[in-house]
Amino acid sequence: MIHFEDLKFFQPILRALAEKGYEHPTDIQEQAMPHILSGKDLLGIAQTGTGKTAAFALPILQHLSEEPSSRQTLLPRALILTPTRELALQTLANLKHYGKYLPLKFGAVFGGVNEKPQIRELKEGLDVLVATPGRLLDLYHRKLFSLKGIRFCVLDEADRMLDMGFLPDVRKIMKELPSKRQTLLFSATLPEEVEALVHQFLNDPVRVEITPPATAAETVEQHVIFVPKMQKQELLQHILSCGCCEKVLVFSKTKYGADKIGRYLRKNDIPNCVLHGDKSQKERQKSLKHFQDGDVHILIATDVASRGIDISDISHVINFDLPDEPESYIHRIGRTGRAGKTGVTFSFCDALEKRLLRAIEKKMQDRIPVLSAKEFWEDFVPVEVPKKEPSKQEKRRFYKAKHKRTHR
Ligand code: AMP
Repeated sequence: MIHFEDLKFFQPILRALAEKGYEHPTDIQEQAMPHILSGKDLLGIAQTGTGKTAAFALPILQHLSEEPSSRQTLLPRALILTPTRELALQTLANLKHYGKYLPLKFGAVFGGVNEKPQIRELKEGLDVLVATPGRLLDLYHRKLFSLKGIRFCVLDEADRMLDMGFLPDVRKIMKELPSKRQTLLFSATLPEEVEALVHQFLNDPVRVEITPPATAAETVEQHVIFVPKMQKQELLQHILSCGCCEKVLVFSKTKYGADKIGRYLRKNDIPNCVLHGDKSQKERQKSLKHFQDGDVHILIATDVASRGIDISDISHVINFDLPDEPESYIHRIGRTGRAGKTGVTFSFCDALEKRLLRAIEKKMQDRIPVLSAKEFWEDFVPVEVPKKEPSKQEKRRFYKAKHKRTHR
């Protein structure tokens, strides 16, 4: 097992890592850092929770410390593009920790908040800029800063940027960067569009792959619970009241659904926070902090809002609805079972979601064990799902077909 010292990091970086309690590099760090330190472009297939932020941040800090600062010219030298403001803030916090003993300045720009403090920071000069694509382009087009000094560029969670429709913006930004630069791209999965991005913007990259998505769930105990849609809220209430869950992240497919679950639980004296894209930045940060600090044990979130959240001790992930994309399931369950700890997930599946379950199992190349709702709710009896009344059009079609059959 190697140590950070073996990678020849500067003393101020090693000191900050020791303070964070990091002893050994994680797999992605061990594999990616030597290449990044040697100046190669890199494609990292890894999801959040693997330590990928430090995998790119530490070598970039090392490179920046080796080069003379250009802050006098107000040009940022490293750009880290992230899909969400939460991830931008988290990456910034990590950089500040790792670089606390280095004479470097870090800042972030992202939408949904007042731009003035961000513009002020840019004008004062930054070494590393963390940004979401939309706000970055907006400020760039208004000529509030230049990208001419960028020597290092990271595209973090590229597959999520694709999902969120940011790739056109990302391409525009990449075209503005100097061609002499080091580019790193991290993605949990590698859809075609992301692969195209790699071909277009990375120069002969080294490929490092950690825990391919199909096996991402090794430290997570997964269960599926079949339950009619109309009984999901009650089942959730029973699970949360059983006393077995310490810190629970509940996923809802929609913002409306997340609010509804939150209201239902509160009505039943189960305190919780709700996190989704319609909440203001302030509310989102407040919810996250309450959950992080353990003031509230249940966080209900949508996929996008929860993306990249780094809360290390989530004991349970509950999928109130199954996601449409099998990849999202893998991201969701990856919120628990982090840093070697075991996590537990319960996925509620109603009749209409069975096809989504099949797609997830196909992607994982494994079956998810079924658990009976009775484990949590003794009197559980699945209600009969009433058959939908056929529409007039369907009735007409049916009678026409029958008529044809009987008169043939
Ligand atoms: P990330 O995948 O970058 O979101 O990191 C996941 C978590 O692992 C974060 O809480 C990091 O602080 C933590 N972490 C990263 N590298 C190490 C390391 N070498 N040793 C222990 N924890 C780490």
